[in-house]
Amino acid sequence: MREDKTKSILIIYTGGTIGMVKNPETGALAPFDFDQILVEVPELKRFGFNLSTFSFSPLIDSSNLNLNVWVKLAELIKENYKSYDGFVVLHGTDTMAYSASALSFMLENLDKPIIFTGSQLPIGTLRTDGKENLISAVEIAATEKNGQPLAPEVCVYFENKLMRGNRTTKYNAEHFNAFESPNYPELAVAGINLKFNYGAIHYATTKKELEIHTILDENVVILKIFPGINKKVLHSILNIENTKAIILETYGAGNAPTEKWFLNELENSIAQGKIILNVTQCSAGTVDMSKYETGNALLKIGVLSGYDITTEAAVVKMMCLLGRCNKIEEVKLMLNQSISGEISK
Ligand code: ASP
Repeated sequence: MREDKTKSILIIYTGGTIGMVKNPETGALAPFDFDQILVEVPELKRFGFNLSTFSFSPLIDSSNLNLNVWVKLAELIKENYKSYDGFVVLHGTDTMAYSASALSFMLENLDKPIIFTGSQLPIGTLRTDGKENLISAVEIAATEKNGQPLAPEVCVYFENKLMRGNRTTKYNAEHFNAFESPNYPELAVAGINLKFNYGAIHYATTKKELEIHTILDENVVILKIFPGINKKVLHSILNIENTKAIILETYGAGNAPTEKWFLNELENSIAQGKIILNVTQCSAGTVDMSKYETGNALLKIGVLSGYDITTEAAVVKMMCLLGRCNKIEEVKLMLNQSISGEISK
């Protein structure tokens, strides 16, 4: 490992398995003191980087994640942006894809690496995957060429793969290889060397001040259709009080029932000013509502295409746009565009 005192990395610990220990009474895992993590990974010192740490209080299992955590993370990064070359966020794996997506939309003009990582086994256990994940995440956050960071995006690093954060999904609850990026290539692979996929990484062409967007609107629901969904269920979900937008998880290339009652319910919601965004239930591929009549019917009543966005990124993008735009037309316009590389368009 190299000695490089010129690199400063801030490691932010939010909680998650990586830093958990077993409660002796219940046997269940719960987050513990962050300083212990660095004690468990003395190898980090050998980089010679200036490593600083910040620990959230309380530390959370990421299943308890709420929008305040994203706001706090965005503010913390903004406050420390000029003092560090990169940031590593230690986070529970359960909702890491949501948080990485959120930060990708909340941080505008980002030109430094924000690397999310965590682990499937606590860092204090013998077979932990946490050490490699943390060490590589720190190295990636510090890697540059001619003064230019090589991964200046919000990323997820897990089990040898660096992925664009808003393209990831947790797909395995058991294997170390827990994340995938089904619709976008990996940004880097960690083998003997770190191999960056330069063509897939976004590099800003002009330098602008980092801006953060911290107003989020949580009045969003996910509606996953299934054979047998009835009018009562559909009507209840679409009409939950204060709902402003619905992420409609459809079949295949964006297809849904064409029965009259079904389309009428959706049409009424759109007429009331609600936004309906079509995302696919498939783990890979894109929505194309022009392909089948069953998709075309949705297009005709004003359902918007989510293209190849993940459900995680769709929910968070919607919350961010509803919080940041004044008019519904503006939200619709931005849903149709890639803001941070979340859709292939
Ligand atoms: N329940 C844990 C969490 O998301 C799982 C993990 O970190 O892997 O915080």
